[in-house]
Amino acid sequence: MEVRLPFAVPPWWEPPQVDSAASKEEAAFVHWMNNTIHPDTPRIYTDGSGHHGEIGASAYFKPLGNSPAIERSAYFGSERHHNVHAAEIGGLILALRMTLDNPQLQRDVNVYSDNQSALQVIRNPRQNSAQYLIKEVVRLLDYRRQQGWTTRFFWIPAHWHEEITGNTHADALAKKATGWREEERDTLGPRAEHLAGLPPRTLQSAVNCWVRRKVKQAWEDSWANPTANAPGRDLRRVMPHLEKHGLDLFARLTAPERSALIQARTGHIGINAVLFRWGKVDSPDCPHCEGEDETLNHVLFLCMSYAGLRTEIWGAQRAPRTLRQALGPESAKETARFLLATGRLQYLLPPTPIPDDDETDTDH
Ligand SMILES: [Zn+2]
Repeated sequence: MEVRLPFAVPPWWEPPQVDSAASKEEAAFVHWMNNTIHPDTPRIYTDGSGHHGEIGASAYFKPLGNSPAIERSAYFGSERHHNVHAAEIGGLILALRMTLDNPQLQRDVNVYSDNQSALQVIRNPRQNSAQYLIKEVVRLLDYRRQQGWTTRFFWIPAHWHEEITGNTHADALAKKATGWREEERDTLGPRAEHLAGLPPRTLQSAVNCWVRRKVKQAWEDSWANPTANAPGRDLRRVMPHLEKHGLDLFARLTAPERSALIQARTGHIGINAVLFRWGKVDSPDCPHCEGEDETLNHVLFLCMSYAGLRTEIWGAQRAPRTLRQALGPESAKETARFLLATGRLQYLLPPTPIPDDDETDTDH
């Protein structure tokens, strides 16, 4: 597991120039300007990638003229231990190391990344995740600075339509580092080597993320395939898949409406069919309809004594027809109002104040 110190750099450390444009258009324009005004300043493209749960990084440089491109890539392990954010920083390391062993790059260079947060970390290294990589970036930058070579960083938009081909190459290279091969859909090719001298550490953030994913998966599985006595039977009928709209659903509701909705959704509600099951009343019958169980279905859709109320709340047209519609986001507020207005859930309404006529009971 990684160890993180409060600071990655001493307080007097001066960050390199990091240029992150305000918009994609501006970034593409700056890229074009740099190439036009300083065509011979080498530009190195970096990328980090997560593919099929594997993490890779790359750096790509194409010299002017006919010289072949220089490519570097590294494999960072599975997303169980590492993440794309760290790999983006890994890409910067690959770029900086490339400049040290290539004479044509031992000079001022521009480094392009399509990852804002990696660049933000370079501008202000603190107690970030993947600090062990950040420290290597700082070490390499300091070395280049001692040699008198400037390193400037730029953000470029990923998959930009103009011919920022370097970014496209870096993207493919980083994926390839994870074993991905464009030609073969299902088979994986060999992965790239780990970053030399820096074996990948297990990142705290990657582990947290992995645990969260596992728990969510287990929760969803148990929701979809409940055991016989698992709670939530009624709620599962209304909400077959776990949904995130929970808070939105309740935001517009008053406190009694919220209670009514929750009780309706969970099936724990004070109507006779439920109370009878719990042994609280002698009959499951609707108080208005002899021989008809007072189920939620009956109350919401069938009971004729609420026909007027139904029209009043929904109008004739868009009344919900299933429990799922009635208790879902579209109709939740109306359904809650309807349930309260039937007068069947008196226990949810604020108590009627008791007339205060006996002064001897009052504490003074
Ligand atoms: Zn009825």
